[in-house]
Amino acid sequence: MVAIGNGDGYIGLGSAKAKQMRNAIDKAIIDAKLNIIPVRRACGSWECRCNEPHSVPFKVTGKAGSVEITLIPAPRGTGLVAGDVGKIVLRLAGIKDVWTKTKGETRTAPNFAKAIYEALKQTYKVKTVSKWAA
Ligand SMILES: [Zn+2]
Repeated sequence: MVAIGNGDGYIGLGSAKAKQMRNAIDKAIIDAKLNIIPVRRACGSWECRCNEPHSVPFKVTGKAGSVEITLIPAPRGTGLVAGDVGKIVLRLAGIKDVWTKTKGETRTAPNFAKAIYEALKQTYKVKTVSKWAA
């Protein structure tokens, strides 16, 4: 599993299998580049309201395997309240302050990274009133 990002709103995850480690990493990087998604950032914390894009716009949840992770907007200066793998992925995406809540087997790093990726994907899925009613 390879995570790439520009530290400024884009993140991609990739994985690949190959006989040689070096080839597997190269393939995974190509895969990650194909899976780059934009991440919507904002000051989603009602305690902060600075209007800087340092956190997530609202609470988002992602799932991968048995891992479920929720990203919660945090005020500026909070930092990344997440595990090591989470911090790497969130930093690559350009998120500076966030709280996380996890459920399930969080020790499995690939699923953990994937769950965060899925949660970040949700930042662009805004539920409108009409969708709620449907
Ligand atoms: Zn703020």
